[in-house]
This record gives sequence, structure tokens and C-alpha cells, in this order.
Amino acid sequence: MDGRIRVLESVIESMGDGVAVVDEHGKFVLMNAAARRLYGRGPTDGPVEQWAEIYGVLRADGVTPFPADELPLARALRGEATDQIELFFRNIAHPDGIIVSSTGRPLRDAAGRVCGGIVVLRDISAQKRAEVEMRDTNDRLNRLLEDQERRGQQSRVLAEMSSLLQATSAVDELYAVIADYMERLFPGQAGAFFAYSASRDDLEQKSWWGGFAADEHPLMKPEECWGLRRGRAHRVDGGTTRMRCAHIPPALGGSALCVPVLGPDETLGLLHVRFRAAGDSAREHVLWEEREQVTATAAEYLGLALVNLRLRLALQQQSIRDPLTGLFNRRFLEETLPREIRRAQRKRSTLCVLMLDIDNFKTFNDRYGHAAGDNVLREFSGLLIDNIRATDIASRYGGEEFTIVLPDSPVADARKKAELILEKTRALRVTFNGTGVGPISTSIGLAACPEHCDNAQALMRAADQALYAAKQGGRARVEIFTRGTAGAATV
Ligand code: GH3
Ligand code: MG
Ligand code: MG
Repeated sequence: MDGRIRVLESVIESMGDGVAVVDEHGKFVLMNAAARRLYGRGPTDGPVEQWAEIYGVLRADGVTPFPADELPLARALRGEATDQIELFFRNIAHPDGIIVSSTGRPLRDAAGRVCGGIVVLRDISAQKRAEVEMRDTNDRLNRLLEDQERRGQQSRVLAEMSSLLQATSAVDELYAVIADYMERLFPGQAGAFFAYSASRDDLEQKSWWGGFAADEHPLMKPEECWGLRRGRAHRVDGGTTRMRCAHIPPALGGSALCVPVLGPDETLGLLHVRFRAAGDSAREHVLWEEREQVTATAAEYLGLALVNLRLRLALQQQSIRDPLTGLFNRRFLEETLPREIRRAQRKRSTLCVLMLDIDNFKTFNDRYGHAAGDNVLREFSGLLIDNIRATDIASRYGGEEFTIVLPDSPVADARKKAELILEKTRALRVTFNGTGVGPISTSIGLAACPEHCDNAQALMRAADQALYAAKQGGRARVEIFTRGTAGAATV
């Protein structure tokens, strides 16, 4: 044999890539060691149609059989060139399969006629694995970044929510903040906040967001929720019926989270969020941890804010209410009267003040005792409240003295109101410790703005002088302020 051909043969035999050559009839005339390793066997005598089966060649997906007439060698025999076709080899040498890149060319004789075909095969499994790994790593990194970004965003939203919650001055404001911020924390997810009613028998749907129906669950029993029953966060998975809260509809697509909102010594309500199914179960796991954490933090802030607000409202009440009768106190009256007068002046309407003082109350106390007297003050206050409009302001001025501010009320109307109060007071039957205590009466002084004066101080003084006149006139009556009448100094 020609020396050059031997050198060529040994070069081909020792190449890292597989090389196989067939003649025009599809008979193998050459197959180097690398090709034999990839094919898992030597040349076959079988026809072209059986090669894919004999060598275990599949499409790159590793499942679909490779069509025999599309094999690079078969196409080479038809005169076609192929470049880097990806094949999957699963054969005796590679039971788990390898990915092979295959390039084929037809061989031509001097006349240009196809006289065979050659194919060069390269194992690219490692490269493919690296590519997949890189893609996976990239995906994971992207997700991590996304998670971090989302967590950062959630922390910002939570911080903002907390500061807004602390700044609310009414519960309705607080409920609005929850709806707004829960939706920001979990975009696209629905949820609601339920607060215990005063009786603590049930919970009321106070706040809802993300498509949660306004009337889905106006009232809920605590027994309907596993979270409330156990006093801790409870998760309901979409598919299962195990430990599914009764307040969650059976047709719920995704999953739900119920987190009790706790105060220092009682449960205040329930924070409930519904999550649509995400599809990716590995991801669900990460998401769930985060959801539970975020919802728990939101619930904690909410609990603190609710308690804080209640305390503030109670303090505010204490500072403007008289504890014995529940009426406004003198401080509140002195704060509001100038404002009411200004409003009346703007509207060019009359504002009247009634000054009331229970008659001979000292004697009453002496006869029935101080506790019975307190009872009378409470009953009398109830009578006042029952007989005024929502816009009128009744306050306990001090001791057995009371004041009623009547905005938008002509003197004649105020007088009628005063007379009605006299009549009702006369009819008032107060009992103490099961026995009736004597009837009471009151004297009332009436003054009006702008008729008698134009400022709060003068108005109060005028009403007081009218009251004095009523006492002087024999008590149990109403007197309207007039300049220069008995006891009524000029204002
Ligand atoms: P007049 O008809 O002139 O108003 O006689 P009066 O006895 O009602 O008037 P006076 O101002 O002399 O007495 C007011 C009494 O009201 C004295 C006090 O014992 C009583 N009093 C004031 N505050 C309270 C209270 O909080 N509870 C009770 N039980 N009595 C009170
Ligand atoms: Mg008095
Ligand atoms: Mg009195």
C-alpha cells in the first residue's frame, strides 16, 4: 500500500471525531475508532433504512426515532451536504444516551457523480450539559434577583403601611389603608380583613381588595376558620379539602392564608389572603415562606395599629366626655362654641344656648343621698340626649348644670325645645335601689346669637343671666335673656 495512504488511514483512525465513509451502495468502507465508540459497534451490513435502529439514533429530544432517510449519511448518498445536525445516540455503549453533532458530505468521482458519503461525528454532550447548566444557573440567578427585588419592594411597602396605619385617626381610615397596601404587597391577589364585633360572637368583613366581593362574607363565625380556632397562621392548599376553612369557597382555584390579628390580650380579627395557583411547585415553596412572612408582619402591624387607635380614641373620649353622664364636658363646649358661632354667622342663622340648672338639688342630695343624686344626673342627661337633634351639643357644664347648644335654631324654636325639656323633666321618674326618688325640675336660661350678643363668652354670660332670672322667677321655668331685666346685667 502506498505509504501516504497508510499515514492518512492512521490519521483518520486516531482522530478524536468519528469518521464513517460508505460507498454508493451504502456499504461501509471506513469507520474509525471514535465512530465505533460513538456507534457502540462496527460497520453494519444492514440496509440504510435500518441504520437508525441498528446504531440507536434518535432525534435530539432523545425520544423520537430518527427517520432513516434524513440521516446525514443517507442524505450524503443523495448528494446533499448537512452541517451539525444534532442526533441522540442511545446504544449499548451509551445506555443513558449522548448528543452527537453530525456533518455529512457526498463523495464524488472525477466526473462529479456521487460515489459515496462521509460523515463526521462529534460528541457534544458535555457542551450541551454545560449549556443547560448555564441556562439553569442564569434562571436561578434571575429568580434570586427578582425575589430580592420583590422582597425589597415588600419591605418598603410594609414600612410605608406601618407608618400610615400609625397615623390613622379613625378605624375606617385604617381599613382603607389595609385594602390599599395588602393589594400592593400581593398584586393581583384577593383578600379581606374581618374584625371581631363588639359582642365577639362573630366577625365582620371590614376591608377587602383584589376582587374580593364586598358581600362575600359580611359576617363570619370564629369556628369557620382554622386560623382563628388555633390562634395561628393557617394555610389552605388549593387542591386538598383537608383542614379547609368553612369560610373559603370550595371552588377556590389557588391557595389561601388565614392569619389572626392579635391584640395584647385578645384576637382582634383575621387577615385573609387568597393566592392564585402559580404552577411552578418548586417556586411555590419559596413563595409560600415569603407570603407567610409578609402576611404575618402585616397582621402584626395591623394589630398594633388597631390597639393604638382604640387607646387614642378612648383617651380622646375621656378628654371630651364627662364620665358620669357621658355628655360632652365643659372643655369640649368651650372649644366648639366659638366654632359653631362662626359657622352660624357665616350662614346668617341663629344659634341658641340653653343653660340648665337642676332646682334644689342640694336638698335632693340631702334627702336621698349622693348616689341617688348621681342617678338623677344620669337620667336627666339621657332625657336631654333623647330630645335634641344630632347637630345639637349637650354638655355637662359642671355639678348639676348643663348646656345645650342649638345651631340653626330661631329663638322661638329654642324656647319650645326648652319647654319640652321642662315638661319631660317633670314627668321623669327616677328610681334608686328599686325605689322611686322624688320628682325633679330644672330652670333654663336662653340666649341667642346674633340676637343677644356676637361671641361665645358673652353668649354664655347672657344664658347664665337668663338662668338666674329663671331661678329668681320661681324655678322650673325658662327665661329668655333680655337686657336690663332682673339679674340680667348688660352684656
Ligand atoms: P338651686 O335651685 O338654686 O339651683 O338650688 P341647688 O340646691 O340645686 O343649688 P346649689 O348650687 O346650692 O347646689 C348644687 C348641688 O348640686 C350641690 C351639690 O351637692 C350637688 N351636686 C353637684 N355635683 C354633683 C354630683 O356630681 N353628684 C351629686 N349627687 N350632686 C352634685
Ligand atoms: Mg347650680
Ligand atoms: Mg341647682
